[in-house]
Amino acid sequence: MSLDFDVFVVDPKPIPSAVPGFEDEVGQATWPPSTSTLISDDGGGALLVDCLITAPESRNLAAWVKALGREPGYVYITHPHADHFLGLPEILAAFPAARPVALAESIPAMEEQISPGFMQVWNGFFPGQLTARPVAPAPLAGTTIPVGGSVATVTPVGTTDTGHSSVVHVPGLRLVVSGDVVYNRTHMWLQGSTPDSRASWMRALDAVAVLDARTIIAGHRNPVTADDDARRQIGECRRYIADFEDALDRSSAPAELIDRMTETYPDLANPYTLWVAAYDLLGTGS
Ligand SMILES: [Zn+2]
Repeated sequence: MSLDFDVFVVDPKPIPSAVPGFEDEVGQATWPPSTSTLISDDGGGALLVDCLITAPESRNLAAWVKALGREPGYVYITHPHADHFLGLPEILAAFPAARPVALAESIPAMEEQISPGFMQVWNGFFPGQLTARPVAPAPLAGTTIPVGGSVATVTPVGTTDTGHSSVVHVPGLRLVVSGDVVYNRTHMWLQGSTPDSRASWMRALDAVAVLDARTIIAGHRNPVTADDDARRQIGECRRYIADFEDALDRSSAPAELIDRMTETYPDLANPYTLWVAAYDLLGTGS
Protein backbone atom coordinates (compact mmCIF):
# COMPACT_ATOMS: atom_id res chain seq x y z
CA MET A 1 0.00 0.00 0.00
CA SER A 2 1.37 3.39 -0.78
CA LEU A 3 0.35 6.51 1.11
CA ASP A 4 -0.10 10.07 -0.03
CA PHE A 5 -1.37 13.32 1.47
CA ASP A 6 -3.25 16.45 0.42
CA VAL A 7 -3.69 19.77 2.23
CA PHE A 8 -6.80 21.92 2.38
CA VAL A 9 -5.99 25.57 3.08
CA VAL A 10 -8.14 28.33 4.53
CA ASP A 11 -7.10 31.98 4.32
CA PRO A 12 -7.15 34.35 7.33
CA LYS A 13 -10.72 35.25 8.37
CA PRO A 14 -11.88 38.66 9.64
CA ILE A 15 -12.74 38.83 13.36
CA PRO A 16 -13.59 41.75 15.68
CA SER A 17 -10.47 43.27 17.26
CA ALA A 18 -10.22 43.16 21.06
CA VAL A 19 -6.95 45.09 21.34
CA PRO A 20 -6.70 48.88 21.17
CA GLY A 21 -5.20 50.45 18.08
CA PHE A 22 -4.80 47.32 16.00
CA GLU A 23 -7.18 48.34 13.24
CA ASP A 24 -5.70 51.84 13.00
CA GLU A 25 -2.12 50.63 12.89
CA VAL A 26 -2.37 47.31 11.06
CA GLY A 27 -5.86 46.87 9.62
CA GLN A 28 -8.58 44.25 9.89
CA ALA A 29 -8.06 41.76 12.74
CA THR A 30 -7.99 38.17 11.49
CA TRP A 31 -8.03 34.57 12.62
CA PRO A 32 -4.89 32.80 11.41
CA PRO A 33 -4.76 30.91 8.11
CA SER A 34 -5.49 27.23 8.81
CA THR A 35 -5.06 23.81 7.25
CA SER A 36 -6.62 20.38 7.31
CA THR A 37 -4.65 17.40 6.02
CA LEU A 38 -5.94 14.26 4.34
CA ILE A 39 -3.66 11.20 4.48
CA SER A 40 -4.77 8.42 2.18
CA ASP A 41 -3.66 5.07 0.86
CA ASP A 42 -4.16 3.77 -2.64
CA GLY A 43 -6.67 1.21 -1.38
CA GLY A 44 -9.10 4.04 -0.62
CA GLY A 45 -8.51 4.35 3.14
CA ALA A 46 -8.10 7.87 4.50
CA LEU A 47 -7.49 9.84 7.69
CA LEU A 48 -8.43 13.50 8.03
CA VAL A 49 -6.33 15.47 10.53
CA ASP A 50 -8.15 18.47 12.08
CA CYS A 51 -11.25 19.94 10.49
CA LEU A 52 -11.38 23.75 10.86
CA ILE A 53 -13.95 25.91 12.63
CA THR A 54 -16.75 27.51 10.59
CA ALA A 55 -19.57 25.46 9.11
CA PRO A 56 -19.10 26.82 5.56
CA GLU A 57 -15.35 26.13 5.47
CA SER A 58 -15.87 22.63 6.92
CA ARG A 59 -18.53 21.90 4.29
CA ASN A 60 -16.02 23.02 1.66
CA LEU A 61 -13.45 20.73 3.24
CA ALA A 62 -15.88 17.78 3.09
CA ALA A 63 -16.65 18.54 -0.57
CA TRP A 64 -12.92 18.68 -1.31
CA VAL A 65 -12.38 15.27 0.32
CA LYS A 66 -15.28 13.86 -1.73
CA ALA A 67 -13.86 15.36 -4.92
CA LEU A 68 -10.61 13.52 -4.18
CA GLY A 69 -12.66 10.32 -4.07
CA ARG A 70 -11.80 9.63 -0.42
CA GLU A 71 -13.89 8.33 2.44
CA PRO A 72 -12.09 9.01 5.75
CA GLY A 73 -12.33 6.16 8.26
CA TYR A 74 -11.06 8.45 11.02
CA VAL A 75 -10.86 12.15 11.80
CA TYR A 76 -8.05 12.89 14.27
CA ILE A 77 -8.03 16.15 16.26
CA THR A 78 -4.50 17.19 17.28
CA HIS A 79 -5.26 19.40 20.31
CA PRO A 80 -8.12 20.98 22.27
CA HIS A 81 -8.60 24.24 20.36
CA ALA A 82 -12.05 24.75 18.85
CA ASP A 83 -10.63 26.16 15.60
CA HIS A 84 -9.42 22.65 14.82
CA PHE A 85 -12.62 20.72 15.52
CA LEU A 86 -15.81 22.83 15.56
CA GLY A 87 -16.21 21.77 11.93
CA LEU A 88 -16.62 18.15 12.98
CA PRO A 89 -20.44 17.97 12.57
CA GLU A 90 -20.12 19.04 8.93
CA ILE A 91 -17.51 16.36 8.28
CA LEU A 92 -19.56 13.67 10.01
CA ALA A 93 -22.66 14.70 8.05
CA ALA A 94 -20.72 14.10 4.83
CA PHE A 95 -18.94 10.96 6.12
CA PRO A 96 -21.21 9.29 8.69
CA ALA A 97 -18.91 6.26 9.02
CA ALA A 98 -15.88 8.37 9.99
CA ARG A 99 -14.77 8.03 13.61
CA PRO A 100 -13.65 11.26 15.28
CA VAL A 101 -10.82 10.58 17.75
CA ALA A 102 -8.30 12.45 19.90
CA LEU A 103 -5.92 11.77 22.78
CA ALA A 104 -8.05 10.62 25.73
CA GLU A 105 -6.42 13.20 28.02
CA SER A 106 -7.29 16.04 25.62
CA ILE A 107 -11.03 15.34 25.57
CA PRO A 108 -12.11 17.13 28.80
CA ALA A 109 -10.54 20.34 27.43
CA MET A 110 -12.32 19.78 24.10
CA GLU A 111 -15.62 19.39 25.94
CA GLU A 112 -14.90 22.64 27.73
CA GLN A 113 -14.27 24.36 24.37
CA ILE A 114 -17.79 23.45 23.25
CA SER A 115 -19.53 24.30 26.56
CA PRO A 116 -22.17 27.07 26.32
CA GLY A 117 -19.83 29.69 27.83
CA PHE A 118 -17.03 28.99 25.37
CA MET A 119 -19.43 28.70 22.43
CA GLN A 120 -20.62 32.20 23.25
CA VAL A 121 -17.01 33.41 22.90
CA TRP A 122 -16.48 31.50 19.65
CA ASN A 123 -19.77 32.80 18.25
CA GLY A 124 -18.55 36.32 19.04
CA PHE A 125 -15.63 35.74 16.66
CA PHE A 126 -17.70 34.09 13.93
CA PRO A 127 -21.35 35.13 14.31
CA GLY A 128 -23.77 32.97 12.35
CA GLN A 129 -20.95 30.79 11.00
CA LEU A 130 -20.64 28.06 13.62
CA THR A 131 -22.46 24.81 14.18
CA ALA A 132 -25.29 24.91 16.73
CA ARG A 133 -24.54 21.30 17.71
CA PRO A 134 -20.81 21.00 18.43
CA VAL A 135 -19.37 17.57 19.16
CA ALA A 136 -16.17 16.37 20.82
CA PRO A 137 -14.18 13.40 19.49
CA ALA A 138 -13.95 10.03 21.26
CA PRO A 139 -10.77 8.79 22.97
CA LEU A 140 -8.24 7.14 20.67
CA ALA A 141 -7.24 3.70 21.94
CA GLY A 142 -3.44 3.40 21.69
CA THR A 143 -1.29 5.65 19.53
CA THR A 144 -1.90 4.41 16.00
CA ILE A 145 -4.69 5.23 13.55
CA PRO A 146 -5.47 2.97 10.60
CA VAL A 147 -5.20 4.52 7.13
CA GLY A 148 -6.54 1.74 4.94
CA GLY A 149 -3.90 -0.98 5.15
CA SER A 150 -1.30 1.31 6.76
CA VAL A 151 -1.14 3.30 9.98
CA ALA A 152 -0.30 6.80 11.14
CA THR A 153 1.20 7.29 14.59
CA VAL A 154 0.15 9.85 17.16
CA THR A 155 2.91 11.44 19.25
CA PRO A 156 1.72 13.28 22.37
CA VAL A 157 3.98 16.28 23.07
CA GLY A 158 2.39 17.97 26.10
CA THR A 159 1.81 21.71 26.35
CA THR A 160 2.50 23.96 23.36
CA ASP A 161 -0.02 26.76 22.78
CA THR A 162 -2.43 24.61 24.79
CA GLY A 163 -2.24 21.50 26.94
CA HIS A 164 -2.37 17.92 25.60
CA SER A 165 -1.05 18.71 22.13
CA SER A 166 -0.04 16.01 19.68
CA VAL A 167 1.25 15.50 16.17
CA VAL A 168 0.48 12.84 13.57
CA HIS A 169 3.52 11.08 12.12
CA VAL A 170 3.56 9.07 8.90
CA PRO A 171 7.06 7.57 8.73
CA GLY A 172 6.59 6.17 5.20
CA LEU A 173 5.97 9.70 3.91
CA ARG A 174 8.47 11.32 6.29
CA LEU A 175 5.49 13.52 7.13
CA VAL A 176 4.35 15.18 10.36
CA VAL A 177 0.97 16.91 10.60
CA SER A 178 1.67 19.23 13.48
CA GLY A 179 -1.54 20.95 14.59
CA ASP A 180 -0.36 23.92 16.66
CA VAL A 181 3.01 22.42 17.67
CA VAL A 182 4.76 23.86 14.60
CA TYR A 183 3.60 27.04 12.85
CA ASN A 184 4.63 27.88 9.29
CA ARG A 185 5.61 31.55 8.87
CA THR A 186 2.65 32.59 11.07
CA HIS A 187 2.79 34.37 14.45
CA MET A 188 2.64 31.75 17.21
CA TRP A 189 -0.18 31.84 19.77
CA LEU A 190 1.53 32.97 23.01
CA GLN A 191 -1.45 34.60 24.71
CA GLY A 192 -1.68 33.12 28.21
CA SER A 193 1.81 31.63 27.93
CA THR A 194 4.23 31.38 30.86
CA PRO A 195 7.97 30.66 31.11
CA ASP A 196 7.00 27.04 31.86
CA SER A 197 4.59 26.70 28.92
CA ARG A 198 7.12 28.24 26.54
CA ALA A 199 9.83 25.84 27.81
CA SER A 200 7.38 22.97 27.31
CA TRP A 201 6.72 24.15 23.74
CA MET A 202 10.49 24.11 23.09
CA ARG A 203 10.64 20.49 24.33
CA ALA A 204 7.69 19.64 22.07
CA LEU A 205 9.63 21.03 19.10
CA ASP A 206 12.57 18.80 20.13
CA ALA A 207 10.19 15.82 20.19
CA VAL A 208 9.02 16.64 16.66
CA ALA A 209 12.62 17.07 15.46
CA VAL A 210 13.41 13.54 16.66
CA LEU A 211 10.79 12.16 14.24
CA ASP A 212 13.10 13.29 11.42
CA ALA A 213 10.31 14.25 9.05
CA ARG A 214 11.05 15.93 5.74
CA THR A 215 7.67 17.63 5.52
CA ILE A 216 5.63 19.29 8.25
CA ILE A 217 2.09 20.44 7.54
CA ALA A 218 1.45 23.10 10.15
CA GLY A 219 -2.08 23.73 11.39
CA HIS A 220 -1.46 27.41 10.73
CA ARG A 221 0.42 28.03 7.50
CA ASN A 222 1.13 31.33 5.79
CA PRO A 223 -0.70 31.33 2.43
CA VAL A 224 2.46 32.62 0.73
CA THR A 225 4.98 30.42 2.53
CA ALA A 226 7.78 29.04 0.42
CA ASP A 227 7.43 25.37 1.39
CA ASP A 228 6.63 22.84 4.12
CA ASP A 229 10.26 22.00 4.93
CA ALA A 230 10.42 20.38 8.37
CA ARG A 231 13.87 21.53 9.48
CA ARG A 232 13.25 25.17 8.49
CA GLN A 233 9.94 25.34 10.33
CA ILE A 234 11.25 23.73 13.53
CA GLY A 235 14.23 26.10 13.52
CA GLU A 236 12.05 29.15 12.92
CA CYS A 237 9.61 28.17 15.69
CA ARG A 238 12.44 27.63 18.21
CA ARG A 239 13.85 31.02 17.27
CA TYR A 240 10.45 32.73 17.49
CA ILE A 241 9.81 31.47 21.03
CA ALA A 242 13.35 32.43 22.12
CA ASP A 243 13.02 35.88 20.54
CA PHE A 244 9.62 36.36 22.15
CA GLU A 245 11.03 35.39 25.56
CA ASP A 246 13.88 37.86 25.11
CA ALA A 247 11.64 40.68 23.82
CA LEU A 248 9.18 40.08 26.66
CA ASP A 249 12.00 40.36 29.22
CA ARG A 250 13.05 43.71 27.80
CA SER A 251 9.56 45.19 27.42
CA SER A 252 7.30 46.81 30.00
CA ALA A 253 4.35 47.70 27.77
CA PRO A 254 2.54 45.90 24.91
CA ALA A 255 3.77 48.34 22.26
CA GLU A 256 7.42 47.65 23.11
CA LEU A 257 6.99 43.90 22.73
CA ILE A 258 4.97 44.35 19.52
CA ASP A 259 7.61 46.68 18.05
CA ARG A 260 10.52 44.38 18.91
CA MET A 261 8.83 41.27 17.47
CA THR A 262 7.51 43.09 14.41
CA GLU A 263 10.99 44.40 13.64
CA THR A 264 12.37 40.86 13.77
CA TYR A 265 9.34 39.25 12.07
CA PRO A 266 7.85 41.81 9.67
CA ASP A 267 6.39 39.27 7.25
CA LEU A 268 4.70 36.59 9.34
CA ALA A 269 1.00 35.94 8.80
CA ASN A 270 -1.56 37.15 11.34
CA PRO A 271 0.09 39.93 13.36
CA TYR A 272 -3.12 40.11 15.41
CA THR A 273 -1.91 36.99 17.25
CA LEU A 274 1.16 38.91 18.44
CA TRP A 275 -0.90 41.89 19.58
CA VAL A 276 -3.24 39.69 21.60
CA ALA A 277 -0.29 38.04 23.35
CA ALA A 278 1.36 41.41 24.07
CA TYR A 279 -1.79 42.93 25.58
CA ASP A 280 -2.45 39.77 27.56
CA LEU A 281 1.07 39.52 29.02
CA LEU A 282 1.92 43.23 29.42
CA GLY A 283 -1.40 45.08 29.30
CA THR A 284 -2.50 47.13 32.29
CA GLY A 285 -6.02 45.76 32.15
CA SER A 286 -7.34 49.30 31.89
ZN1 LIG B 1 -4.74 26.42 16.19
